[in-house]
Amino acid sequence: MARQTIGYSPGQLQRLFAEYNAAYFGGIIPPYGVEYGSRRMTSRAGICYPGLQIIRLSPVLLGGDRRRVRDTLLHEMTHAWLAALRRPWGHTDEFKAKLLELRDLGAHSPVGNKELVYHCYRRAPRRRPYFLFRCRRCGARAISAVKRRYSCGRCQPQRFDPRFQMVFAGLVNRNGAPYQRR
Ligand SMILES: [Zn+2]
Ligand SMILES: [Zn+2]
Repeated sequence: MARQTIGYSPGQLQRLFAEYNAAYFGGIIPPYGVEYGSRRMTSRAGICYPGLQIIRLSPVLLGGDRRRVRDTLLHEMTHAWLAALRRPWGHTDEFKAKLLELRDLGAHSPVGNKELVYHCYRRAPRRRPYFLFRCRRCGARAISAVKRRYSCGRCQPQRFDPRFQMVFAGLVNRNGAPYQRR
């Protein structure tokens, strides 16, 4: 089996951490373990645990993309830096200001402000299926978020009437195209 490409080896990650700490954070971040999470880590690209002094990166969302790994490491280190300063270490104004600074220095890639703070590299959300119904009598089609009994609005617009009940005709996307998860 081919070895998974992760962009940087764990040892390289640790060296990047030390390098960035010295270059951009005045060396005040205490030693953290920088590691890759499991394959199940798919909701965010990185996570910082100041209490445990661990930064964890998603091997799935970052893949072998070195630029993304470095950007995400800087993002998580900014959380760690604020925690080291005993400041609120969420996505605060201070947090944003520091990331803007890192971007202006060219340390972080030149992304937009929103992406700078919330770059989680989330996967596209899974589309949920809609239900397509068809009237056997007139051929009218209707799409619904829930699967239940409908009568055709064209043949019987007043109320549910089993004589004009529409038949389930398959799963579709919201736009009526055959259902695909994404
Ligand atoms: Zn964050
Ligand atoms: Zn009809």
